[in-house]
Amino acid sequence: MEILWPSMAFTTRPTVKMLMLPAINMSSIVLFGPPGAGKGTQALRIMESTGLPQVSTGDMLRAAVSAGTSTGIEAKKYMDAGQLVPDEVIIALIRDRIREPDAVNGVMFDGFPRTVPQAEALEGITKVTHVIAIEVPDERIVERICGRFTCGNCSAVYHEKFNPTKVEDRCDTCGSNDLRRRADDNENTVLSRLNAYHEQTSPLADWYQARGVFNKIDGDRAIDQITSDILIALD
Ligand SMILES: [Zn+2]
Repeated sequence: MEILWPSMAFTTRPTVKMLMLPAINMSSIVLFGPPGAGKGTQALRIMESTGLPQVSTGDMLRAAVSAGTSTGIEAKKYMDAGQLVPDEVIIALIRDRIREPDAVNGVMFDGFPRTVPQAEALEGITKVTHVIAIEVPDERIVERICGRFTCGNCSAVYHEKFNPTKVEDRCDTCGSNDLRRRADDNENTVLSRLNAYHEQTSPLADWYQARGVFNKIDGDRAIDQITSDILIALD
């Protein structure tokens, strides 16, 4: 075998400058779940297991506005006017976000898409391979949310049924009797939030179901069981 450049043989290899290729999104995930379904906890676990970064359009908007990017400036105009930020602006933000190096294998969308046109637009920039919908019966969510109260002094969180204080009206942690409920944690408000959620997500669920990527997960069980089902669905 002919060695062309023997002088190179014992020198260190030249470092190859990494080319920044456009992100190839292998498997983006969309996470659905009504308020109070434990979506936040599962989102963290999905991120840990898959390494996919979480993309929340709310966080992205706030970041773009405070960074003063051109899309951020555009978005701020609508926000200042009290208007919804148009889909094109959100999609532009997502397009920028998924080109970042940590998104090379895809991302996990949380809180997006909310409409079928948004889902269609998303399809144009990344491939959604799994939609995970955490489902919990409405009455169970009402029970979870409406029983919550917190300590006004130390912020400890309790639930009248699942995690009551040891002594009535007295915080276990700090002894304060300043125990508070949030005004919007009442049955009517929670039910109307849930109705809005169902109205919004059911056309999307159908749309993704027709594409064979929709996975319904029973969220009315132990946290670990839910995680395990999600990971099986993602596998
Ligand atoms: Zn306390």
